[in-house]
Amino acid sequence: AVSFQHVSRRFGSVTAVDDVTIDVAPGEFLSLVGPSGSGKTTLLMMLAGFEQPSAGRLAVSGRDVTDLAPNHRNIGMVFQKYALFPHRTVADNIAFPLRMRGIGRSEREQRVAEVLAMVKLDGYGQRMPAQLSGGQQQRVALARAIVFEPPVILMDEPLGALDKKLRQHMQIEIKELQARLKATVIYVTHDQEEALTMSDRVAILDHGKLVQSGGPRELYEAPATAFVADFLGDMN
Ligand code: ATP
Repeated sequence: AVSFQHVSRRFGSVTAVDDVTIDVAPGEFLSLVGPSGSGKTTLLMMLAGFEQPSAGRLAVSGRDVTDLAPNHRNIGMVFQKYALFPHRTVADNIAFPLRMRGIGRSEREQRVAEVLAMVKLDGYGQRMPAQLSGGQQQRVALARAIVFEPPVILMDEPLGALDKKLRQHMQIEIKELQARLKATVIYVTHDQEEALTMSDRVAILDHGKLVQSGGPRELYEAPATAFVADFLGDMN
């Protein structure tokens, strides 16, 4: 459902992403892992349309999206850095992508109620984000990402701010939601263990290059390089 074809991104003399080619199958859960600065966020930002590749092409559901504006790419996003709008209600936050797509008020209200139920926050629509716990805010961010039923959802450290117990709970909720939506998910995390437990496949980046991608078991049992072995061995 997603294809990166020889994608590179340079910032001045820094090559943030270096000739990455990877296909993500429909409904697949792919994690991107690698040291700080290895290019994970830049890859997601290019797919989302917030950064332009210096070279290469990007496709979503068989359609080349390289030159499309972000809101025409049909991609949902949950980024820790792009939190909720603090001065808007939960319902307004979730309705935002629908508004961007010109969907009328009554349909917006109906869809918002549906996704609030999906993330188990029925009745929370009129609250302000600050009146919710961290985990509830993350569920609102998830609801906002799925409200327009995108076939592809990008998540950049979505659980980074949560404590361990809540993280584990949210990991399960994300997996359940993905199964229900049959969405393709690309998931950036600093937590190798999280990547190995949640993913169908893990892609390891180092200095902008894709070093190896494979199923969790395959990576763990047959790391292609010493770097991969070290990186995965370095859990906790
Ligand atoms: P982290 O795990 O720390 O979030 P990352 O793997 O997501 O890191 P990126 O944020 O994609 O890495 O950054 C990759 C490289 O590109 C880094 O060297 C970073 O300094 C550089 N970079 C990213 N965005 C910019 C930018 N807007 N301008 C200049 N350099 C950038």
